Formats: sequence, structure tokens, C-alpha cells
Amino acid sequence: MCGIFAYLGKKKAQPILLDGLKRLEYRGYDSSGIAIFDGTKIEVVKKKGRISELIHLLGKKQLDGRVGISHTRWATHGIPSDENAHPHFDQLRHLSLVHNGVIENYQLLKQRLINLGHTFQSETDTEVLAHLIGHYYELGKEDDPTARLIQALKRSLKEISGTYGIALIHSEVPNLLVGARRGSPLVLGIGNEEYFLSSDVTAICPYAHKVVYLNDGDLVTISSETFDIQSLNKTNNGFEIRDVDQTEMSASLKGFPHYMLKEIYDQPETIRNAFRGRLIQEEATAKLGGLNMSPQELLRIERIQVIGCGSARHAGIVGEYLIESLAHIPVEVEFSSEFRYKNSPMDRHTVVIAVSQSGETADTLAAVKEAKRKGLKVLGICNRVGSSIARETEGGVFMHAGPEIAVAATKSFTSQVLIFTLLALLLGRLRFLSAREGHEIVEAIEALPDQVAEVIKLDPQVRELAKKYAHSKRFLLFGRQFQYGVALEGALKIKEVSYCSAEGNPSAELKHGIIALIDQFTPSIFLCPKDGVYDKNISNMEEIKARGGPIIAIATEKDDLVSKVADEVLYIPNAQEYLCPILTVIPLQLFAYHLAIILGKDVDKPRNLAKSVTVE
Ligand code: GLU
Repeated sequence: MCGIFAYLGKKKAQPILLDGLKRLEYRGYDSSGIAIFDGTKIEVVKKKGRISELIHLLGKKQLDGRVGISHTRWATHGIPSDENAHPHFDQLRHLSLVHNGVIENYQLLKQRLINLGHTFQSETDTEVLAHLIGHYYELGKEDDPTARLIQALKRSLKEISGTYGIALIHSEVPNLLVGARRGSPLVLGIGNEEYFLSSDVTAICPYAHKVVYLNDGDLVTISSETFDIQSLNKTNNGFEIRDVDQTEMSASLKGFPHYMLKEIYDQPETIRNAFRGRLIQEEATAKLGGLNMSPQELLRIERIQVIGCGSARHAGIVGEYLIESLAHIPVEVEFSSEFRYKNSPMDRHTVVIAVSQSGETADTLAAVKEAKRKGLKVLGICNRVGSSIARETEGGVFMHAGPEIAVAATKSFTSQVLIFTLLALLLGRLRFLSAREGHEIVEAIEALPDQVAEVIKLDPQVRELAKKYAHSKRFLLFGRQFQYGVALEGALKIKEVSYCSAEGNPSAELKHGIIALIDQFTPSIFLCPKDGVYDKNISNMEEIKARGGPIIAIATEKDDLVSKVADEVLYIPNAQEYLCPILTVIPLQLFAYHLAIILGKDVDKPRNLAKSVTVE
């Protein structure tokens, strides 16, 4: 959430900052702003609304200067407005700061500063931090302004509680860009005699050839000649300069009208990327070297605790069924936000698996830290190499899905489910699964990309269905067992991008309350591939039909029975029941997409949402 982009170098800062902001816009888009130091003073331009509004406001205006900071906001404290947009000044307007995160004790600090005569222009927590640093800068005794600014920053950061990724400039310290992070991501980019700070490596890729993923507690000072990173918490040791992963750049639309659609269509390839090099034919198992666990250690696992938020948690729910049925290990899935504050009993044979596309999800990151504090082994399933969760966990599996730009997760969900399948296969083959069963699973996984491509061909048919049901205000989704997590995920997609109300349920819950919602205006979407609970689903559909509710079914090809009960049927290829979630979710993603387009919604940037939830 929220994007920070900052520049120091020999080129004009403004076009670079605006370009960086555009690349970060998916992280937050209620307002944006830039601050540029022209050698004597800092000029700030900021505006409520999308970055296009800021560009429009700037018009032909070219702020002069080669050092600057910028921000695209996802409001936590204070409404989206020009005043609340970042950057924020300190009292004397010498210091300008952008921030991602939440300063939890800002009210207390604000009152203290008001008592000292400070006046505030915004309702944000961020402005309080800018004033606090400015205040300590003025009190500082150091002759060297750089040393004074760094001391003031350190003093302020000690006093605040909460999370931050910040970038700041100061008019008395020309040619200095400062950044710091705790709980919110920040990456340093190194180019040719130029430096960048960004919330996300994607924005840096076109400019930098090296990056440093800053650790929590890092403070970076950048001048025209060099940079320096110091750790404010003693536990960090050093930093690593890495080459930029150019795959992070492949974030273009490739001719698709929206990222969400492009990312749905990416799935045959991203699924293949998720298992490439990870299946061993001869041994009928999976190889996941990144787990950093020996077969003996894997055998000692007695329980798995999955943590995640949103789609990642839904993938975890599918993972629960996969691991329990293929590896016979009990799995529990918990919201990261609940897990972090809950005192769940855990024993030392429990392994925690944290799932997060960005690897920066604030609640999941905090839950990972809590699990580590309890001495548990924590693994990650992330897309972003170098992300906080990837670095915080002892091992894990990368998704290799490429950048996911649309706010609504699509390809990351299917990659996460695929990785759970690999994990279930690996753990199962160490336990009860025979080589024959293992072979079947390996073959079924290898067939998936083509089957996914087949399902995507349903696109025109799904669009027609979305048109037909676009007047509906509410959708009910039902699935059992492996399909329950898919029902949750499909409902989330519909809510996120079309703003229609939608809920996912285990089909059998119908009679326990939900059936009261059934009427001719409320379509039910049933996930009923040919699996062990197929007949049960058909009975549930009959119950809905008897009450006049329209039914859309997602079923296995050549299933003639289902069309006698459902009003509409979308057919997927025949597949093992544990792999069907990857196939059945795709028509739901497409349905949500088309519904949103038909209803005129901004599908890649839905209202109130932002990608990568880096605040609690
Ligand atoms: N708390 C800050 C604000 O509301 C920053 C939020 C963000 O991370 O975008 O302005």
C-alpha cells in the first residue's frame, strides 16, 4: 500500500519521479505528490486523485532540481485530499517527507508539538513525523547539517511506534536523500551516478542495475557520490547489493486492455513456471530445495499452520485439503491478522507456512515474526524475491509468476495452489503415497498448463454470462472440499472488482441460513466438477432450483446431468479432483472481470483497495 519513489542524481528529477509514481500507482491511488529541491528551496506539488491529476496540475511546469521524493497514497489517517497528500513539510518547511505505514502514537506527539507552537496542515500521522524530525533538527548541536539531520531522524524514530518506510530531503542539506524502514518495504536502486528509493523494485528496474533490499531498522543516506546504510536495530548485520532481476520488468499490458485480464491469460505460463524444475519423474515426487529441509526434518512435521490474508488465505484453504488428503498431515489455516495476536498452542513439530504474493503483507509479516519468536520453523510462499517475508523466513518456495499489477490477485492464487500441490506431493511421498500415485500426480501437474489454456477459451462464453447476470446485486458461490477455497476466492474477486455483494460457502451450509437469500434475482454459482462430493452438490443445486434461484455451474466436460439442474454450465477439462481448483477458479476470475467491465468499474484499481497491504 502506498508507493514511495525518490531520486538523487545528475538528471532532472521530475520526469523520473512521475514515471516511477506511475509504475507504483497500483499500490495506492487516492492522491499523489512530489517534492523537488532546486538548490535553495523545496517545492511541493500534490493533488487528490490519480497521478494523472497531479500531471495535469503540473501542466507545463518543470520543477528544477536533481533530488526529489514522491508518493502515491492509500489513506490511513485523514481523508484523501490535497492537504493530506504526501509529501509533508516540517514546521519551518525545510524538510519534506513521504511515508508508507502508520505512526500509532501520532496523537500524543502531535499534542506535544502543538504545545510547542507547531501548526499542522493535514490530518495525517505522517506530518507529525515530519514536524518531529524538523523539531529535533532545530534543537541539534551538530555543526554539520547532515550529522544533525541524521541525529534528529534517529531521535524521532526512537520515539514513534508503528510502521514506516520513509524518504526525506532537507533544504539545508543539499544533495542528500535519506530513507528508513520499519515494517514497510523500501528498496535502494543504484544506477550510473544516480540513486533511487522505492517501495517496490518494479519501479526501479528501468533505471538501476543493482538494488539493495533494505532490512527493517535500516537507515540509508544517499549523496551524489555514495550511499551508506546503517542499522538502527542491533540485530541486522550488513546488506547485500544484488543485480536487478529483469523479469520484474515484464509488467507491460502486452496488448490486453487491463492487467487483470492479462494476468488471467498469463496463467498457463505462470503455472508452468511454478513447477518448472520441481518435479522428479523417476522418483514420482517434487523437489523443493528452497525449503532448506532434509527428508528427515520433513518427516518430523506433525502439523502445519498456514497463515495468509485475502486470496493467499484462500489458496491456503485449498492447500489444507491437498496436504491433508495427500500427505495426511493436519493443517490449520488462519488469518494472519488473527494469528499474530492469538496465543495458539503450537508444538515444536509444527511448521508455519506464510503465504503472500508481495511478501510484504504487513499482517503476515508480523505473524511470521511472532511465529519465529515462538521458536517455530517458518516457511514462505511468495512471489517477490527479496521481499521482507522471503527474507524473514528460513526457507520457502518462490512462485516465479512475474509482477502481478492488477489489485485483484489472479495468477498468484493459482501459483500458490500449485505450490501447495507440490508440497503435498513431496510430503505425501515421504509418507503414505505410493510411487504409482505419485506418478499420477506428476503427470496431472504437467498436463495443467494446457488444461488451463483450454479453460481460458471459455472467455467469450463467460462474458455473455456476465452480461446476462450483470443486473444482479448479489451472488452466492458454493463449493465443497477442494472447491470450498475456490468459492471463497471467486466471491472475493466479484466483490473486489465489481462491488457486487458475493459470498462463498461450503455447499452444505446452504440449509443453515443462506437458503433464505435464494430468490429469482440471486444467482448461485456452483463449483461441481466430477469429484467425491459431486452428488451432494447436485442435491444442493436441486434445493436451490426448487426455490426458483438461477444456477450457474462449473462442471467437468461431458457431464450431462448437471445441465438438467443448472441454468448455465461452464465446462472444464477432466482432471484429478485435487487439481480442479486451479481450473474452476479461472471462469470465476473471468466472470468477475467481465462483470466489472460491464458495470463500468475501474477493474485494475478498484475503489478503496490497493495492492500489497503494507499497513495493519
Ligand atoms: N499513514 C499515512 C497516511 O495516511 C500513509 C499511509 C500509506 O501508507 O499510504 O497518509
